[in-house]
Amino acid sequence: MSLFGRKSAVCVICKRQLTHKHKPKSEWQIDGPLCGDCYVTQMQKFYNLSLRQKCVVCGAEKDVPDMWEPKYQWDMKGLLCKVCFDKKDEEDKDLKTFCKICRKKLGMIRYNPKSKWNIDGHLCRECWDSQKAKLG
Ligand SMILES: [Zn+2]
Ligand SMILES: [Zn+2]
Ligand SMILES: [Zn+2]
Repeated sequence: MSLFGRKSAVCVICKRQLTHKHKPKSEWQIDGPLCGDCYVTQMQKFYNLSLRQKCVVCGAEKDVPDMWEPKYQWDMKGLLCKVCFDKKDEEDKDLKTFCKICRKKLGMIRYNPKSKWNIDGHLCRECWDSQKAKLG
C-alpha cells in the first residue's frame, strides 16, 4: 500500500508520471499506459510501418522503412528496394570509373560525352575522339 492510497501510473516507455493516460492500441503489443508523447511516437512508427511502397525500379512492394531514398545525383523520384539501390549504386560507381565504350578504367581524366551521343557515362580520350569523328 503506497502513501497515496493508489498506485500512480507511469508511462511504460519513458517511465514518466502520467497525468493523462493514453491506452496503447492492441496491435502495438504494449502492456500499460502511455504518455502523450510516447503515444504519438508509437502512432507514427506504426503508421510508417503500415505504409508500403513500390520500388521505382523493379516494382516490388516493400515496407517503407526497408526502402532507400535514391541519391540526389540519380535524379529519381520515389523509393528503391535495397537490391535495386545496391545495384544502382554499383552501376553508378562503374559509370564513374570505366569508359562506357571500351570499358577501360579511367583515371582522373574523364571525358563527358555530348548529350546528343546518348551515352550515359564517361569516356576515355580515344573513344571520345572516335565518337566525335563519327557523330560530330
Ligand atoms: Zn512516455
Ligand atoms: Zn527494386
Ligand atoms: Zn574508351
